Amino acid sequence: MMELVVATRNAGELKEIRRLLEGHGVSVLGLDRFPEAPEVEEDGDTFALNAAKKAETLAKVTGLPCLADDSGLTVTVLQGRPGVHSARFSGVDANDSSNNLKLLDQMALVPEDQRQAAFCCVMALCLLDQPTRLFEGRVEGLILSQEQGDGGFGYDPLFWVPDFDCTMAELPLDIKNRISHRGQALRQVVAFLSTFQR
Ligand code: IMP
Repeated sequence: MMELVVATRNAGELKEIRRLLEGHGVSVLGLDRFPEAPEVEEDGDTFALNAAKKAETLAKVTGLPCLADDSGLTVTVLQGRPGVHSARFSGVDANDSSNNLKLLDQMALVPEDQRQAAFCCVMALCLLDQPTRLFEGRVEGLILSQEQGDGGFGYDPLFWVPDFDCTMAELPLDIKNRISHRGQALRQVVAFLSTFQR
């Protein structure tokens, strides 16, 4: 069975990835198994650069194939910001609520027909002896002018999903996982790995 290191310290994400890869001949190892693994700085200009850097660095350190991701919110009228800076949008001490307040502030004067945004995720798979492969997921939506719903995390309460007529924070988790940028990218990884294993 192929061993795959998943570059996340987030237990929820690890569990989700493990569940999706179950039965595909892949044994998922979390970073908790590699206490010597370094914290990789996400200093690239794109989600793809950050995800690839993380996957390649950790594959080298562990000597095993590695899957890493980078994700965030891109807002059209803000020229794609907060983008790769989504987690630290409001500064080094940022948290979800300070980030959401900053976004609301920057969008305060933006009319309804110009509030398009997307959640994006790139997953990078480094198989050591092959070029790193990238898998992308994207969900389109609109930025509201106040928070709505208390599920999810991050920018979810401000992100309106037109297909479901509610915010990402109001969607049940199984539906969010099905439609989300991360879910889409992850399913492409699973499809690739299951053909690769044959
Ligand atoms: P990362 O850990 O560098 O990938 O940071 C991603 C950041 O983008 C998070 O801290 C959130 O601010 C934002 N983000 C990514 N995915 C989601 C999501 O599904 N919902 C809400 N915010 C998200």
